[in-house]
Amino acid sequence: MRLRSHTATGWAAWLLAAALAMCVVATVALAYSLMQIRDNSSWVRHTNDVLRLIAGIERAVLQAESGERGYLLTHVGEYREAYENAKAALPHAIDELATVIGDNDEQQHNLATVRSSIEMRLAQLQRVVELAQDDLQTSLAILEQARVDLLTQRIEQGLSTMTKLEQALLKERQRNFERSNFTAAAVATCLVILALASGCVGAFLIERQRTMARQQASDNRLRELQTELLHVARLGTMGEMSAALAHELNQPLAAIANYLKGSRRLLQDSSDKSAERIRNALDKAAEQALRAGEVIQRLRQFVSRGETEKSNERLDRIVDDALALALVVAKDRAVAVSLSLDPSAQHVLVDKVQIQQLLLNLIRNALEAMEHQTPRELKISSTRCDDGMIEVTVADNGPGIDPELADRLFLPFMTTKSTGMGVGLSLCRTIVTAHGGGIQAEPQPGGGTAFRFTIPGAAPS
Ligand code: ADP
Repeated sequence: MRLRSHTATGWAAWLLAAALAMCVVATVALAYSLMQIRDNSSWVRHTNDVLRLIAGIERAVLQAESGERGYLLTHVGEYREAYENAKAALPHAIDELATVIGDNDEQQHNLATVRSSIEMRLAQLQRVVELAQDDLQTSLAILEQARVDLLTQRIEQGLSTMTKLEQALLKERQRNFERSNFTAAAVATCLVILALASGCVGAFLIERQRTMARQQASDNRLRELQTELLHVARLGTMGEMSAALAHELNQPLAAIANYLKGSRRLLQDSSDKSAERIRNALDKAAEQALRAGEVIQRLRQFVSRGETEKSNERLDRIVDDALALALVVAKDRAVAVSLSLDPSAQHVLVDKVQIQQLLLNLIRNALEAMEHQTPRELKISSTRCDDGMIEVTVADNGPGIDPELADRLFLPFMTTKSTGMGVGLSLCRTIVTAHGGGIQAEPQPGGGTAFRFTIPGAAPS
């Protein structure tokens, strides 16, 4: 299924590339067609100009002829004026036409013939007009000669030949103009179709990309959920194991405590020198056995019900107990411990055993982190927050948190230790959350890590 969708995407990408390439070609073709349209239309305009100029010359010749005749017959100045005007305009009109048809040899040749005929005819007309008043006979003779010479017909024929030639050119140029119009329209249509096709394929590709991204995101979420479920399942198993373990350990621990008390009683009346020291040791051992039982009992309750038993406790005592327990393990290694507990933040509303457990975990982690460090410096401090919570900090001068772990530090089963379980910090977070507080780790300015957590403060009892 996934393979087929990849193939479709591949085809669509090729199609889009091809459509875009064709769009480029069509755009170039359209630009070329538009240039053709412009050229052809200017040719059509040019031919119309030539035709207009030829017609103008024809009109001027006619005007000169009729002016001459009118003047000859009536001697009215108006006719002569019309003749003079036409005569003056003709050379300019012929020059203008000669310039316009400069690119056409055949028309130039035709115009040269027409021009000489017009010049000859104008010379005749001039003489007729000049002689009209004094020598009518000679004027009429010249007129007769003009009829015989067929000059006017030659002019008309020449202009008519030029007109026909231009009309033929006009037809061809109009055809070219229409053809280029049609081509441009066809190319523009193709371009529109190609642009639409490109848009459709592009939209398809974008949608496909989005679908794949969505699919990817949901796959990732599914994987995350599976991992979370796995963790939850492992935590559940651990919970059950702890509950079973707590049940199993409770009786031997109670037995140990009883034996220790029995042994103490047996030593009660002993006069041995060391008896007093042994009694003390037995008292402490019994106390710790009972404490172990209590820890297990609380853990069992916590795992099975997730509840905490909160009471007003002294923070300095909890810290002292946790420190003493943790330092038993590190007794052969020198550690400089500095305590800085805010005297105004002594009372806390907590489950004592759980907070002891939490501090024990943090202190033990700090000691383990400083294993290869000299000197080892452990700092525990507390301060009151504005919201009534109390912030406790456990700081060390170890190597700091492994950057690979930083984001998932409080997730269960995250460990860098070969013998570690990776549940300590996750348990710490559970305990702090159950107390309505928060926990975080941050690097120390001079190296090492500081774990800060908040727990609810209480009024002195
Ligand atoms: P564990 O101690 O069994 O590994 P934790 O949940 O207590 O499990 O700790 C998880 C990991 O966090 C440790 O393996 C360690 O890499 C890191 N860590 C915890 N505390 C510190 C600390 N004070 N300094 C450096 N790294 C620490």
